[in-house]
Amino acid sequence: MKKTVSVFGSTGSVGRSTVALLTHHKERYKVEILTANQNVDLLAAHSIALKAKYAVIADETKLDSLRDALSGHETEAMAGRQALLDMASHSVDWVMMAIVGLAGLEPLFQAIPNGNVVAIANKEPLVSAGALLMSRAQRYGTTILPVDSEHNAIFQVFEKENKNAIEKIILTASGGPFRTWSAEQIACATPKQAVAHPNWSMGAKISVDSASMMNKGLEVIEAHHLFGMSADQIDVIIHPQSIIHSMVQYCDGSVLAQMGAPDMSTPIANALGYPDRLETCGQKLDIQTLSNLSFERPDFEKFPALRLSYDALRAQGNAPVILNAANEVAVESFLMSQIPFPAMMECVEEALSKNYTHCTSTLEDIVDLDQSVRTDTEVFIQKISSHFKKAG
Ligand code: NDP
Repeated sequence: MKKTVSVFGSTGSVGRSTVALLTHHKERYKVEILTANQNVDLLAAHSIALKAKYAVIADETKLDSLRDALSGHETEAMAGRQALLDMASHSVDWVMMAIVGLAGLEPLFQAIPNGNVVAIANKEPLVSAGALLMSRAQRYGTTILPVDSEHNAIFQVFEKENKNAIEKIILTASGGPFRTWSAEQIACATPKQAVAHPNWSMGAKISVDSASMMNKGLEVIEAHHLFGMSADQIDVIIHPQSIIHSMVQYCDGSVLAQMGAPDMSTPIANALGYPDRLETCGQKLDIQTLSNLSFERPDFEKFPALRLSYDALRAQGNAPVILNAANEVAVESFLMSQIPFPAMMECVEEALSKNYTHCTSTLEDIVDLDQSVRTDTEVFIQKISSHFKKAG
């Protein structure tokens, strides 16, 4: 019997690796739903190749082109945010959440009650609404599988039954493209330089987050929710080769690490096959070619995103929502060359310094706060970007 699967964000970097695995293991899986935001051509190509039942494009204006691209094939075309949310409630055995940003929160929220397996790559919803999502998963008996390579690594070596013996989890970070740059060089970094990650091939947003180290900051908060560890029990270490994907340290002195090539196919295959092991169609690690695995402490001065993220996690309440929302807006503005690289963290600091009184107990509260922070951050960016234009 084939497992039924859906992929939300199938045209992105994680989505494409997931589609490649599903294609490689066609005999095991029946694809129900594939989704994208605007990329009609790739969504249609994937849907035809995998004989998906439904293809959903979030941008409503693209419905006709999606219908045209799928004409003569068995996939039904759908469009719009509501269609995306309706399809997220569709019950399948396994669903991959690989939309980027908080846009993935509501689809993820809808997907959880199906009581099956939800593989999560999309970290921003876990950062902003981790407590809500994890308690929802528990209530509906849904298995959450982490796909982010660090969290998938921890998942593989985290002995749940020995949780009390775990001293800490150690998230590895490549350090990104600016690890060896001076603060002065970083101040002049361009979007093109920021998205050129030395080890991983990823979407633009996460690539910029990796360059600023905000990605690692978001991952610290993500790890807190996924594994129930406090900020003091989560360490970050720079490991430029990206071979060890993370570690768990036990009270008996053992440190268990998961290793692999820097290729998302491995954590995705782990989540897709779970609890079995599935053959990857991606890169495999050739341990004999490794001559050097090095580690260094992260620089919290040069990369303030890490400090801001730990502070937000310790503050709890609405701070992680504010951090994430301001960062998303700031990254978009940096990618459009409206603000320089260091101004992204100025936006986050400014947002965190504001007195937002919103609570975050429901989905609506979180979406509402997220929206307010976005609006305020856009205003702040307008203010500072006119200053940069004048200075330029
Ligand atoms: P990409 O930008 O490559 O892809 C994002 C996907 O989401 C695309 O399918 C895109 O569609 C879709 N999308 C974008 N905006 C919307 C929206 N408003 N509504 C519906 N769909 C939307 O991102 P990545 O694959 O790099 O990352 C996805 C998530 O996984 C992120 O949260 C990231 O942090 C996380 N992650 C990524 C890793 C990686 O290696 N890339 C590693 C670990 C985690 P379209 O193509 O049409 O724009």
